[in-house]
Amino acid sequence: MSRPVPKPGILDIAPYTPGKSGAGLHGRVFKLSANETALGPSPKAVAAYKAAADHLADYPEGSTRLLREAIGRAFGLDPARIICGAGSDELLTYLANVYLGPGDEAIHTTHGFLVYPIATSANGATNVIAAEKNLTADVDAILKAVTPRTKLVWIANPNNPTGTYVPFDEIKRLRAGLPPHVLLVLDAAYADFVSRNDYEAGIELVATTENTVMTRTFSKIHGLAAARVGWMYAPANVVDAINRIRGPFNVSTPASAAAIASLEDTAHYRTAQQHTEQWRAWLTEEVGKLGLEVTPSVANFILIHFPQSAGKTAADADAFLTERGLILRALKNYKLPNALRLTVGLEEANRLVVAALAEFMERK
Ligand SMILES: *Cc1c(COP(=O)(O)O)cnc(C)c1O
Repeated sequence: MSRPVPKPGILDIAPYTPGKSGAGLHGRVFKLSANETALGPSPKAVAAYKAAADHLADYPEGSTRLLREAIGRAFGLDPARIICGAGSDELLTYLANVYLGPGDEAIHTTHGFLVYPIATSANGATNVIAAEKNLTADVDAILKAVTPRTKLVWIANPNNPTGTYVPFDEIKRLRAGLPPHVLLVLDAAYADFVSRNDYEAGIELVATTENTVMTRTFSKIHGLAAARVGWMYAPANVVDAINRIRGPFNVSTPASAAAIASLEDTAHYRTAQQHTEQWRAWLTEEVGKLGLEVTPSVANFILIHFPQSAGKTAADADAFLTERGLILRALKNYKLPNALRLTVGLEEANRLVVAALAEFMERK
């Protein structure tokens, strides 16, 4: 060997490709491709981030204690059962690093978040894909996919990029049907946007089992994606294991200061919830009126399905919208080549997208 060779499996991983962030030919660009909040972060979070710039020479407090305590207060949780990460992606990676190795299997669903197969493969474990029903995770299919090698189940609830969710009764049935040594990962990145009586992010299940974790993020409703902060609520045994491999200073001081301030700005949070709910409903209805199918979403984005006829495909629509500075997410690598994902934006962007789609559908 004349040069270092990655472990088996690494070079089979397709790198994660983020949504396009801009390609406007004329003037303004509306980035509606990454599920970022339309309203931006709380001004208090921005102020806290800037104030932390006076202390950049100091290492962060290694256990992110102040943020864990703030999350504990906000959600009524024991801070000792919380771990913070540089985005929830980091925590998902840690879970795979701790629980998966060669010969193990991890299950995700057909249109599961792409970070899951990457984290699984990076540890030499095998991805097992459970079929969905109506673009929704199917508990029976997941349970059927379990083998003696299964170690972990990844499930985003609500799921990205489909926007669908699994009711809490079904999540509990999933947990009850999985062997106790299988870790169930509930990725609740979009929990803040759900207003359904039969939904729960998973706190109760984490509190009452030794094999379920819930991850959350400050990247979506809190508008702090650039700061990279996520957190996980987990049983003590999982917290202990993760803390043994966690980077000792994995969350930066400005990022955790911003997250704490954001948690305290409940008015901003509620405004973002209301904005999302209102415009998600509007977009679903208006896009539907154009004759395009929209998957009902409980998150801050919608999934739009396009015909396969020449000139009217998702790829055609993507090109048409991009030319007008409207950037949506193409989903070929999510096995949804006939769909585009649209993040709920500000009123102006939402109206521009609907107008452009109307023009797209009418053109010859
Ligand atoms: C956006 C998103 C996350 C959050 O990622 P961060 O690393 O916290 O920014 C996690 N899971 C899913 C399914 C997401 O779409």
